[in-house]
Amino acid sequence: MTTEHLMAVYNRAPLQVERGQGARLWSTDGVEYLDCVQGISTNGLGHAHPKLVQAVKDQADKLWHVSNIFRIPGQEALADALTARSFGDVVFFTNSGTEAVECAIKTARKYHVANGQPERIDIYGFDGSFHGRTYGAINAAANPSYTEGFGPPMQGFHQLKWGDKAALEAAFRNPTTAAIILEPVQGEGGCRATSEEDLRWMRALADETGVLIIFDEVQCGMGRSGKLWAHEWAGMAPDIMAVAKALGGGFPIGACLATTESAKGMTVGVHGSTFGGNPLAMAVGLAALEELSSPAVLDNVREISGYLVQQLEGLKDRYPDVIVEVRGKGLLLGVKLIPNNREFMGWARDEAHLLVAGGGDNLVRILPPLNMTMEDAQEAIRRFEKACDVAREKIKAAG
Ligand SMILES: *Cc1c(COP(=O)(O)O)cnc(C)c1O
Repeated sequence: MTTEHLMAVYNRAPLQVERGQGARLWSTDGVEYLDCVQGISTNGLGHAHPKLVQAVKDQADKLWHVSNIFRIPGQEALADALTARSFGDVVFFTNSGTEAVECAIKTARKYHVANGQPERIDIYGFDGSFHGRTYGAINAAANPSYTEGFGPPMQGFHQLKWGDKAALEAAFRNPTTAAIILEPVQGEGGCRATSEEDLRWMRALADETGVLIIFDEVQCGMGRSGKLWAHEWAGMAPDIMAVAKALGGGFPIGACLATTESAKGMTVGVHGSTFGGNPLAMAVGLAALEELSSPAVLDNVREISGYLVQQLEGLKDRYPDVIVEVRGKGLLLGVKLIPNNREFMGWARDEAHLLVAGGGDNLVRILPPLNMTMEDAQEAIRRFEKACDVAREKIKAAG
């Protein structure tokens, strides 16, 4: 087996994974790793959680797929559960995050058409954002490394500088603006959290101008921030929200949530999906949501996050030659490094058997399962410290 027949779009780590349990992962050669990547913050309950495994097995015996031309009880149940736990009134199910974002953007534009304002097409995103890889999503984030070479920029998409409030206010007041799209806590782009005050300010501006707010909580949602939705910390809510990743606990699923008002343009026939909302995905989603929205898991996120941040700050003081900054929210933590983050990931993996994810701004992200035990958190810190030791030696050796 080689990677010869795979499109060469990934720079894969030389590690063949075979089996996982909780926060642990085993390679085919039997090495045990502590996994603080978790499928890029997707396995919110770690690997092979018994309730999720059981949900898949039970549903696999009954029914996998029927199409949305029929009523699907599991879909109605998961939509009920999501709307009961959020600002949303209605849900469209997808198979991935980027499709949920796609649905969000389409919902926003259709809303203004339904209001008799078809000229409101402009969508404003922010630098350092990540919304997935479809054309709509890459244009909304407008990160040149993802858009270049893929044809002309799509009309009506604009990028704002994150933190530039004057430009954001102007965007809200532009009469052709449909929506702004934001990750309340950025994931891939560098774990930057928008302040609670600024989120509330955006809500007030949106209410005043009729612009819709789309939150992309594909990564920061589903409990990762220590509340089920990251925007809950600010005591405000968007009009539309994309969710995915941990919603399936590792099984492909996504969802676009909206208020009845903002979804009023989404009428029969205007959107659809073959696999979105299939019974298998719904069964796992229901099981994952029940666990991840439990007070026990959300309290655990806050406790483990507090411990990890305190310990990482300590490591920052002891390794000023390696660590620049610790940031993020809940268990979406970023450690900004002096050595190259890709190299550091390799040292952590090979020398400390700790898996961490990369991120923009030379970050490594620590994305453990939300039910991580304190013992595993302590072990993660020991292994991170070892990686810092290795980094220090490498820096010295390189002179
Ligand atoms: C991962 C991610 C996406 C894309 O999700 P896919 O399932 O890969 O399509 C979109 N937005 C955010 C914030 C993400 O982290």
